[in-house]
Amino acid sequence: MPRSSGHAPVGTTPLFATALRTGTPNILQPERTRSLIDAAMRRNWLTNDGPLVQELEERFAAFHDVRHCVAVASGTAGLQLAARAIGMTGDVLMPAFTFVGTAHAMTWIGLRPVFCDVSGATHTLDPPKVEEAITSATGGILATHLWGQPCEIERLQEIAQRHGLPLLFDAAHATGSSYRSVRLGGFGSAEVFSLHATKSINGLEGGVVATNDDTVAERVRLLRNFGFVGEDAVSGIGINAKMNEFSAAMALANLECYDRLHAHDQGIHAAYRDGLADIDGISLFECTPDSSRCDHYAVLEVSDTGAITRDALRQVLAAQNVLTRRYFFPGCHRSPPYARPAQHRSLPVTEQLCRAVVQLPTGLQLTSDDATTIAAIIARAADA
Ligand SMILES: *Cc1c(COP(=O)(O)O)cnc(C)c1O
Repeated sequence: MPRSSGHAPVGTTPLFATALRTGTPNILQPERTRSLIDAAMRRNWLTNDGPLVQELEERFAAFHDVRHCVAVASGTAGLQLAARAIGMTGDVLMPAFTFVGTAHAMTWIGLRPVFCDVSGATHTLDPPKVEEAITSATGGILATHLWGQPCEIERLQEIAQRHGLPLLFDAAHATGSSYRSVRLGGFGSAEVFSLHATKSINGLEGGVVATNDDTVAERVRLLRNFGFVGEDAVSGIGINAKMNEFSAAMALANLECYDRLHAHDQGIHAAYRDGLADIDGISLFECTPDSSRCDHYAVLEVSDTGAITRDALRQVLAAQNVLTRRYFFPGCHRSPPYARPAQHRSLPVTEQLCRAVVQLPTGLQLTSDDATTIAAIIARAADA
């Protein structure tokens, strides 16, 4: 039964009887997940580097073609452990146009975020803006592969190398993304993926620290488990950031079906792209030609000067039960802990994107036909 009637006039009954929400989790194999969880319960090995966590690490490393993957309790914990393991200190240059958790992760371990502007073409850190922000207090660069769009990796690596700075990638959105035909995971000193329920590969909560550096991987393994090197011996100050077996079960079952999810989201993107072509003031964010991404995020940019504002458009969509999100609004630099003008660089592109961007629903909750209907609602609203 189709949930949408397609052309009903805007009235009191929403076009979609069931709400479509940006950020709805995908559970690709419920039966397989249940059987993996049952097996974990039968083994009664529920955490502490269990067999499912080990298998997830191997599968994730093969999938991303990287030497080491260390599973952790969350992307946030992964960022913190990775930052420690690669020796970040002092000021960390990072985008303000990212999830506030990126900034929190650094602040929580005593580092200071310094925000640099992003490029309008990639929505990721603009390399020249990063270089001009480097001071004697700078102790690292943290770049987010936003929406799974890879950063300008080569230029960032070159800058980091020239200034002797560790380079960390927040790859929370980027499971399955490639840069110049190379899967992400092995760039910079480390890359950190999130397996949070709303991300493309859902592990309830969870994260993966990926790196080609043996020493960094070993440090993260120690840090995530209280610094234990044996049953009783402790090597240093660690914390508990271990992934549990149920999360690994969910993530493994979902990762096995990555191609199916990707094809599904590509279909949704194609429907949005077709329905939204040639609308003044509205454009769908597209991956740069040198990269490919997982298509988990359908990102619309609504210009300030078009026929309808971003927030008015969201209301039109909400009236039809299409519940969008303003990732990332208002931007880290305008969120209370970081809204200290002294620390700001000039961020004109970030400011503009924070006003313009809205995320449309993707994933198994909707069909390509539903996406066509959503695009038609947007087209009508922008035509008014
Ligand atoms: C989700 C997210 C994180 C945090 O990951 P968690 O697994 O939720 O801790 C970090 N950075 C970005 C860009 C994110 O979207």
